[in-house]
Amino acid sequence: MSDCIFCRIVRGEIPCGKIYEDEDVLAFKDIHPQAPVHFLIIPKRHFTSLADALPADAPLLGHMLALAPRLAADLGCAEGFRTIVNTGRVGGQEVYHLHLHVLGGETPLPAMLKY
Ligand code: 5GP
Ligand code: ZN
Repeated sequence: MSDCIFCRIVRGEIPCGKIYEDEDVLAFKDIHPQAPVHFLIIPKRHFTSLADALPADAPLLGHMLALAPRLAADLGCAEGFRTIVNTGRVGGQEVYHLHLHVLGGETPLPAMLKY
């Protein structure tokens, strides 16, 4: 996906505040943080949304999820954090390359949804 913004970040065409990288995933700071700590974990290969996940993707999704507490702890979220995956129009997804939000800080986060 040549014009996908997160694919461009993976290719190094757009700078990002990189936190972690391995063969399969990249983690970087969200450009518009919604909490004192706010970073994203993304698969390196283009993956449109969680709605496209297949059973075969479980290891990749598990890898992303299992990384969240490790990276959050490294950034000082020792007492908890929130993970979010916005999916599709109703889920409020803005960037159509799967990403796991990880949010935290020193004080409790506000209520999850204001409906
Ligand atoms: P979504 O609403 O799709 O779940 O969240 C997309 C997130 O990506 C938003 O929180 C937004 O701030 C972040 N974002 C969008 N473009 C960029 C970018 O170019 N760099 C970084 N670091 N984050 C971005
Ligand atoms: Zn992409």
